[in-house]
Amino acid sequence: MSPGPAPVRALSDLLAAEAARFVAEHPRSMAMAGQAAAVWRGGAPMHWMGDWASPAPIFAAQGVGASLTDVDGALYDDFCLADTPAMFGHGEAAVAAAIADQARRGAGFMLPTATAILVGRLLAERFGLPLWQTATTASDANRAAIRWARAVTGRPVILVFDGCYHGMVDDAFVVLDRDGAPVMKPGLLGQVHDLTATTWVVPFNDLAALEMALASDQVAAVLAEPVMTNCGMILPEPGFHEALRRLTREAGTLLVIDETHTISTGPGGYTRAHGLEPDIFVLGKAIAGGVPAAVWGVTAELSARMDAAQARIGPGQSGIGTTLSGNALAMATMRAMLTEVMSDAAYGRMLAGAERLVAGLNAVIAGRGLAWSTVHVGARVELVFAAPPPKSAAQMRKALDPELMAALHLWLINRGVLIAPFHNMMLVSPVTEDAQIDRLVAAVDGFAGAIEEMQ
Ligand code: PMP
Repeated sequence: MSPGPAPVRALSDLLAAEAARFVAEHPRSMAMAGQAAAVWRGGAPMHWMGDWASPAPIFAAQGVGASLTDVDGALYDDFCLADTPAMFGHGEAAVAAAIADQARRGAGFMLPTATAILVGRLLAERFGLPLWQTATTASDANRAAIRWARAVTGRPVILVFDGCYHGMVDDAFVVLDRDGAPVMKPGLLGQVHDLTATTWVVPFNDLAALEMALASDQVAAVLAEPVMTNCGMILPEPGFHEALRRLTREAGTLLVIDETHTISTGPGGYTRAHGLEPDIFVLGKAIAGGVPAAVWGVTAELSARMDAAQARIGPGQSGIGTTLSGNALAMATMRAMLTEVMSDAAYGRMLAGAERLVAGLNAVIAGRGLAWSTVHVGARVELVFAAPPPKSAAQMRKALDPELMAALHLWLINRGVLIAPFHNMMLVSPVTEDAQIDRLVAAVDGFAGAIEEMQ
């Protein structure tokens, strides 16, 4: 008789067993990982692609709707959705048609097209800010917002919330350490400036700390996600946003709202759903259906101040802008997204799906008596290994158990479910089927059962 698999007594046993299963079931991905490592540093064209819990990256073959197949023929229910760019589904017909049509007529000219006028109007109508600019990524858009905020106010400091992520934006790579002192993010590479001098950081939901920082009259802008989605998920306390707006106005500080993830809330993002009044509104990732593009909008008042700042500074190179930004291809896809894809009906489906997912996960948590919880902002759902869900990044970090997360992610991968490789973030698209949601819930239940058996 063969000895059979080793008994799973500890998380490390479970991880080892799941890793072995992945290797056995993904021979092509494993082989391609070896080939890729010979030409791509770190084994993939972008190092995050290797950040999944699987022993090697899953080499994707095709995405259709909310499903993805890999080179081994495995089919996944996709709740990662490219970490947001595909949040309305893979291979969306209107986007594919817009790309094909525009690509034939020229991808970009470094000139505006008539479509740009329409897209600008659609952005203004939907998000409520009158004047817009484009960037190629949300990171770039945030960097532009920061530069303008400093130029307009003449102030040096940007204030962010502990646990934030706004992209490849040096100015946002500051966190609070265990003692609550601001430090540069652990792991930050090649940074020669002391970012803590010009980036201040306070805990989310801590209005006293915010008020104290703003009282210095040094803060050009607060850069914030309306719901923190990059350190687990942390919801604003009631009244937080009203106070944030009042305090920033009183201090002469601009408010930059980064909606790149919270566009999951509804058709006008969290801003429209909750009546926020940002000076600058940033949106990347999903806005062009996977074609690299981002937009940022400003109020008329801020726009006038930008003109004045530019006149004061005088001619020369602003240092803001990249060649591919606002190209014809991005504009054509944004038009498709804004007119055909990001519709009220689509949001209705994705919000209903998210409710189903949250209800299912909560039932698993209650049924098994777990000290876990769920948090969600519209179609974006987070499973948190703590209950009640933390209100600050300091609390959340204690819940982000790396081994437990890795085990859950790999367990799900082996059962045909992808969630974002960062914490336990899941997105429901308008084309996600109830059966897919139910499979995810069942897989989480199975995982929780396996964990229970170890105790
Ligand atoms: N803002 C937020 C809130 C994000 O979550 C991210 C990426 N996760 C970004 C900006 C940066 O987006 P990109 O990597 O596309 O530049």
